[in-house]
Amino acid sequence: MTINIEKIREDFPILKKEVYGKPLVYFDNAATTQKPTCVVDTIVKGYYDCNANIHRGVHFLSQQATEAHEAARKTVQQFIHAQHAHEIVFTRGTTEAINLVAHSFGISQCSDGDEIIITQMEHHSNIVPWQLLQSIRNIRLRIIPFDEKGVLQVNQLESLINEKTKLIAVSHVSNALGTTNPIKEIVRIAHNHDIPVLVDGAQSTPHISIDVQDLDVDFFAFSGHKIYGPTGIGVLYGKEKWLEKIPPYQGGGEMIHKVTFEKTTFNELPFKFEAGTPDYIGSTALATALDYVSNIGIENIAQHEHELLHYATEKLSQIDGMRFIGEAASKSGLISFLVGNIHPYDLGTILDKLGIAVRTGHHCAEPVMQAFNIEGTVRASFAMYNTKEEIDILVAGIERATKMFRR
Ligand code: PMP
Repeated sequence: MTINIEKIREDFPILKKEVYGKPLVYFDNAATTQKPTCVVDTIVKGYYDCNANIHRGVHFLSQQATEAHEAARKTVQQFIHAQHAHEIVFTRGTTEAINLVAHSFGISQCSDGDEIIITQMEHHSNIVPWQLLQSIRNIRLRIIPFDEKGVLQVNQLESLINEKTKLIAVSHVSNALGTTNPIKEIVRIAHNHDIPVLVDGAQSTPHISIDVQDLDVDFFAFSGHKIYGPTGIGVLYGKEKWLEKIPPYQGGGEMIHKVTFEKTTFNELPFKFEAGTPDYIGSTALATALDYVSNIGIENIAQHEHELLHYATEKLSQIDGMRFIGEAASKSGLISFLVGNIHPYDLGTILDKLGIAVRTGHHCAEPVMQAFNIEGTVRASFAMYNTKEEIDILVAGIERATKMFRR
């Protein structure tokens, strides 16, 4: 089924905006997506109509807000096909979800000398939390490299695994290269050695149908704001057995069962990991966003975005001096590139003046830039509301910029 882009664009009022007198062309969706009216309405309605702190109140409003928050958990569960709602932990986003695992899994399951495997294409949020763990446990990071096209060398994984390996943490889709990694294959190899796998799904969840049971991942993290939801809310999925096994990340209200000065016992899942007042308005708005995506159909969105990716790759490749950073056969959602020796920042600035929003820089993936020996790239990333006409505007903008620099 093809999706009705015109109708979808009507749901995103910001897309009507003009920037420097030019119609906005928004290609910075990997950083954050725009929000449909229904999501903004849920936030407004939440605060106007259904605002009370959840879980502890006997009064009507508190119960209503609690029900909305717990219904949102079920929506997330169904969206990523988790077995249980209590395997869904609300966090501030992918970053907090990975920090939670790095800390709680790290201190409980890792000893000095143990190893964690990550990849060369990780976002800083799947590198730095493990380095922070190094100040508590003397663990070693092992790295799965990628080749010159940005394809992960999964055939090297076996040789990186040994009896000290405690966890493999990989991105599903690279935010700097666009590469989609073969998670099932990685999980199969890891589980053969009884090693759990954490997947950073920040860039996959908006573009690919996620089934955590089919992927058989042990932990899966994603951010609401990258899938048309609000900022400040995200998700950590963890298999029940792992969430039971690892200790709380933060202490405070909500996460306790009983507190005395001598000893505290912890609440059941998932509340054990949700210390303090959660973003219950954010969780309900995230559920609205996921319902919005489900109504359009993630497969339909994927097909449309794949066509955009294909069209953009073909058009951009005709530009003199075009160099793609990341040419894996299996890519999703974005294109990273450089043109001649134009600095990405300069190109981004000129495109901005033409109303085109792209991201420039290292995209919080400095090891990727180091591998290509570059400072950064220009990144155009797509969402369900983007069109081929917008790609034509981007291509014309880049051509105009290259002429300016050649002069
Ligand atoms: N991982 C990847 C692959 C990302 O692209 C991002 C966001 N750029 C993150 C993690 C971090 O997400 P957040 O800032 O929403 O926590």
